[in-house]
Amino acid sequence: MKELEIKSVLQVYDSFDELPEEIQNLMSESITIRDKAYAPYSEFLVGAALLLENGEVVLGNNQENACYPSGLCAERTAIYYAGANFPDVPIVKMALSARSLKYQLLTPTPPCGACRQSIAEYEVKQDKPIEIYFMGETGKVVKSSSLANLLPLVFDNSYL
Ligand code: ZN
Repeated sequence: MKELEIKSVLQVYDSFDELPEEIQNLMSESITIRDKAYAPYSEFLVGAALLLENGEVVLGNNQENACYPSGLCAERTAIYYAGANFPDVPIVKMALSARSLKYQLLTPTPPCGACRQSIAEYEVKQDKPIEIYFMGETGKVVKSSSLANLLPLVFDNSYL
């Protein structure tokens, strides 16, 4: 038996202000769309802003449903829109922000497992890493240089 160690390296910015200007702009779009989320049940608002290689910015937020599983996260709302409308344009960067209406969210909020799997599909398809930045309402911002970095041992089309 051998042990396999899996390591992810993330970069942590102390605040929004420390981000490069381009990422501040993308994160600002994420924050604006976040506050338009339809989240009456969780009162947890999430915004996603995707920068595509052609300069387009695609936005999404979470859309909840009285039948809870029928709702969709912000990340998938945005990435499926990008996949539908710009199928051949790689996604370069993604900025995610989250905010609770119940308390002040200071913890950088990463994509959920289902969204990581969904984003992985596009990263594999385009064969280029997607840089991901995520934050709470305020405070630190975490950067991952790729989705694969957030989802080691990903299940992808190489198994099929
Ligand atoms: Zn999700």
